[in-house]
Parts: sequence; C-alpha cells; structure tokens
Amino acid sequence: MNSPNGSSHPHFNPDAVHAKYREERDKRLLPGRAATRDLTGDNLFAKYREDPFTPFVHRDPISEEIDVAVVGAGIAGTVVGAQLHKAGITGVRLIDQAGGVGGTWYWNRYPGVMCDVESYIYMPMLEDLDYVPTRKYAFGDEIREHIERIAQKYDLLTGALFHTGVQTSEWDEESARWTIRTDRGDVIRARFVVMAVGILNLIKLPDIPGMEVFKGKSFHTGRWDYEYTGGDMHSRMDKLADKAVAIMGTGASAIQCIQPLAQSAKHLYVFQRTPSAVGERNNHPTPPDFIDRCKPGWQRERMYNFHRVLDGQDVDDLVGDGWTRFEARVWNPRREPGATMEEFILRAEQEDFEIMEEHRRRIDETVTNPRYAEILKPYYRYLCKRPCFHDEYLPAYNLPNVTLVDCPAGIDRVTEWGLICNGEDYEFDCLIYATGFEAEATPLPRRAGHEIIGRDGLRLADKWAGGPNTLHGMMTRGFPNLFMVPAPGQQGVISVNFTLVNCEGAEHIAATIKLLDERRVRSFDVTAEAEEEYVAGIVGAYTDTSAVMEACTPSRLNNEGNPKATNPRGGSYGGGRGDLFGWIELLTRWREAGDFPGLEITQDARAAPTP
Ligand code: NAP
Repeated sequence: MNSPNGSSHPHFNPDAVHAKYREERDKRLLPGRAATRDLTGDNLFAKYREDPFTPFVHRDPISEEIDVAVVGAGIAGTVVGAQLHKAGITGVRLIDQAGGVGGTWYWNRYPGVMCDVESYIYMPMLEDLDYVPTRKYAFGDEIREHIERIAQKYDLLTGALFHTGVQTSEWDEESARWTIRTDRGDVIRARFVVMAVGILNLIKLPDIPGMEVFKGKSFHTGRWDYEYTGGDMHSRMDKLADKAVAIMGTGASAIQCIQPLAQSAKHLYVFQRTPSAVGERNNHPTPPDFIDRCKPGWQRERMYNFHRVLDGQDVDDLVGDGWTRFEARVWNPRREPGATMEEFILRAEQEDFEIMEEHRRRIDETVTNPRYAEILKPYYRYLCKRPCFHDEYLPAYNLPNVTLVDCPAGIDRVTEWGLICNGEDYEFDCLIYATGFEAEATPLPRRAGHEIIGRDGLRLADKWAGGPNTLHGMMTRGFPNLFMVPAPGQQGVISVNFTLVNCEGAEHIAATIKLLDERRVRSFDVTAEAEEEYVAGIVGAYTDTSAVMEACTPSRLNNEGNPKATNPRGGSYGGGRGDLFGWIELLTRWREAGDFPGLEITQDARAAPTP
C-alpha cells in the first residue's frame, strides 16, 4: 500500500515527517546553543575539573631520559604501553592528569555508568589478560579495573606519572629527543612521544547566564561527588534522600544515571533540551560456557565482525544488539535493483522513520504520563544523533518524585537556588551537569591541552590551523618521532567501537617503534610528498553529507546544526567513517615494506645490525 507521497509505508508521509522534524529542529537551532565555558584558565569554574577520586600526593620533580613518553593513560595510552612492552621496549612512561589509568573510565564514575558497546569487543586485550567480562555490557568500574590489570601486567604502573599535566612537548633537533615539561616540574627527554590524549577528555560545561551565582552544590557527571551524594556507582545515594536534585541533559551519560538518581533523591528534576532515541539494552550476565565456545583470536574476530555488520557487509551478526540492528541499517540503506536515486533516498528515509517509530512506540508503552511520553519522543532521523540504549531510563519517569521539564530552547538562566526555563522558576539543592564533552573530533592540539612544538619552533596548533595534515592519521611532518593515536577528525578511521581503532593504532605504533629501533633509526619525519599525497586522498574521498545532516536536529554529528562547516581535511581514510580494513591493510603493507615509505630517516651512529 502506497502513501499519498509514494512511500510504501502506510504511516510514512514524507512531507508530514519532514515538516515535523523541521519544526522540532528549529525549536533547538538557536544562536548560542553550543556556548561552552573554556575551563582551561577559567579560575571561577576550575573546580569542575578537579579530581574527586584520588588524593593529590606531593612528589619531587623528575628529570630523566627514556625511550617513549605516552601522554594519556586511558585505554589508548595503556594499550600502547602494553604493546610496547610486548615488543620489548621497556623505557616507557605513561603521563596523565588523572590519579590513575582509565581515561574516560577513570573520570566517569557516575551512578549506573556503563559502556553501551558490548564488553567482549570493547574491553581491550581480553585474551592477553585471560579475562572474561561478567556481563554483555560492563559497568564502568569493571572496565577501569581491567585497564588497571593491563597496566599492572605490562609493568606500566610503577613508572607512571599521575596527577601530572604536560605543559609543553618540544622537539630538540640536536639530541633528537622530545623534551616534555610538566606542571610538577618534571623534565623528561624521550626518543619517541605518543599522544594518546583521548577523545572525550574535555568536559563540556555550558555557558549559561547566572551559573556563577548558584549557591547549591553543582558538579559535572564526569566528576561525580559521592562525598555529597553518598552511596557509590551501584548503591543508593543515601545523602540525597532529603535533597531536590536537578540534572541538565538527557544524552548518553544522563540516561544511565537518571534512574539511580530518581531512586535516591527526594525529588529529581530532569531538564531536557533534546530527547535521545533510547533503544533496548537487554544486558545479561556472561553465559558460563561463553569462553569455552571461543577459539584463539576470537576477540579480534568479534571486533571485526561487529565492524563489518556496521559497514553493511553481509556476514553473521555475532554481537546482535541495537548498534547492529539499527545503526547498521541506517548507515547502509538497501538499494533495490533498478531503484532510481529518488526511490533509494525515500526508501532510506522510510527505514529510518520505521526505526524511530519503534523507539517512539517504546516510550508510549513504558511511560504512563502521556505528557511526559510526548516530551520524550525524539523527532529526528536516527542518523542525526548518537543513539542510546537503556532499559531502566524510561520507567524512571513513572516514579512520583520525578519531574521532566521540556526546554528545547535551553535554560534561560541559573539562579541562586535553581534555574529558569521557559520563564518558569525551579528550585533545588543540587545541579548536575550531564552536558557531555567537547566533540570527539576536537583537534588534537586542543585535546592535548598543551603546546606541541616540532622542528624549527613549529607549533602543531599553527600547522593544523586549517585542519589536520598527517600520514596514516598518526604522524605529521615537522614533528619527528611523534605518533598520534588515531582519533575522529584526524584522517584515520572511525568505529562505533573505538577500542578497536585504539588497538590497531597501538599495535602499529609499537611495531613501528620496534622496527625503527631494529634499523637503528635516530629520527624520522614524514616527507612533504607523502603527507600531501595522503591528505589529498582524504580530501578526495570526503563525501559531503551536509544536505542530509542540515535537516537534522543540532548535535555533534552535524556540527551543532552547521554541517557545511565540516572540514574535508578532517575526513577519514576511504571517505565517510573510513575504510577500516583498507586502512589496516595499508598499515600492514607499510610496515612490511621495511624501509619506511614516506619517511625521511636519519640513522643512529651505532653500527647497523647485520641482516
Ligand atoms: P551528550 O551526549 O553530548 O549529552 C549532553 C546533554 O546535555 C544533551 O542532552 C544536551 O542537549 C545537553 N546540553 C548540552 N548543553 C546544554 C545546554 N546549554 N542547555 C541544556 N542542555 C544542554 O553528552 P554525554 O551524555 O556525556 O555523552 C558524551 C559522549 O560520551 C557520547 O556521545 C558517547 O560518545 C560517550 N558516552 C558513551 C557512553 C557509553 O555507554 N559508551 C556512555 C556515556 C557517554 P542537546 O542534545 O540538545 O545538545
């Protein structure tokens, strides 16, 4: 049966859907919606970055010479360290502002924190560690403890410098060393430096008038204050029993902590700007025979399988979850034989609409208050915003102590004891900012949070002012002996399972450093030609999706409503989200060539090894 506009779905009227989606987008597409406080150097708001988890311990500055300095001790930095150790390179130091390893899993300890990518593919090096996650989706503490175990096993903890911020990394031509200076007075000279600074490492505190006058307690989900709330990640926050609590934001972090907050607080106000599409989670304990059914190499195989499904390849779906069911379909719409481009586009929209209808139906089936149910419905395409998955989030709105406030235009202002939204005053004791992080594609010089200075005083921030220039997304001309862990917007590849990209990047970096050592290389730099050719490939493969993304509700995925501003130089290898398998093959062939194609090499004075 065809609808009046040619679609084959009885409820899908493209004109009506476009009009509704546009109307909802326009409520949110307002100037200043992405205004963010720059916490670097903002003394008034610096407390939002403080570490509530590990006491700061005084230590004397160190001055030393090492092989590899790894800036960042999250999953990426720890796995780089582990792979270096496995490759026999032991003079390695991890440096991190946090009080321990874990990166995002160090900082994000809010109640209910978990990873919505399957644990068997997300938690790195499971086979090396002989570890089997306890559930299909792991809570944050299990992930953090696993990263600690990796660091322990590969001897990365004793030498690590925690609560240490790098202030400058500077290349010294004469000694062919990087000099790393830290806010603890350390001076570390390293032959190689690896920037593994993370992709969600800068908390986003919105810039809302009046924030500075708030007299109650306030913190960001990325720095949960259990001293104030009581309880812990898994237990009731008893100190909130007599408190009115407000949470701002309903993204991936908020949807995980709203139910525990609702169960703990006297009253919970949820201030929602844009509803998330929240699909089923279906978490469950790992079956006792799970590992018996796995053959050696199973983890990488499963990671690849997940990526293949999301790439639209016709393979068995081993993971079988919302990502592989919805995201894969939306990103790889079927094109029926003989279909025109218009028919193909319409069909893709219709599939997206059906998925969103399923999500909207789920809300009607779960949330008993019809007004809340309507507010919670996401009216945009599935591909517009990062999807979420949870089974306890929506039922939380059935609790009598929860008030959902719809504020598509955002918050008017924060007051001494609350905030104003839609002209109405709300009062509470505690305000939790679940407002996320600066975008994953934030350029490395900003994510690194310090000056990276290469040959002849060249600043990476200046070199990349017009977008990144790299070879393979991991090296950049003018910055010898420096590796960057691949990141979105940095000319590598993107995966929903970012651990996979981290693992591939870490293995490549460790194998390359080993090879450089074996060949007695003193320093390398990328040649101008190799970099130009690689960047030309990135720009050439870039696909402009702004026509589709412009119709989206504003989000990080469409540059907050301005998709045309996306820089093709921030694209991925192979275009789109990137050709992961092509990129892995490229790296493998590059290493196998053995003579570092595209690099200028200076040799060590030591004798070359006999082949
Ligand atoms: P997020 O998805 O960016 O959500 C931020 C929330 O704050 C949104 O609801 C946003 O509304 C709202 N917000 C921001 N500025 C606001 C303002 N000025 N006024 C009112 N509301 C405002 O952040 P997140 O939930 O922390 O997640 C960030 C990323 O972390 C995710 O995309 C994901 O990659 C990752 N993450 C992953 C997991 C996991 O399970 N793997 C869990 C948590 C987080 P709008 O939507 O209108 O902008």
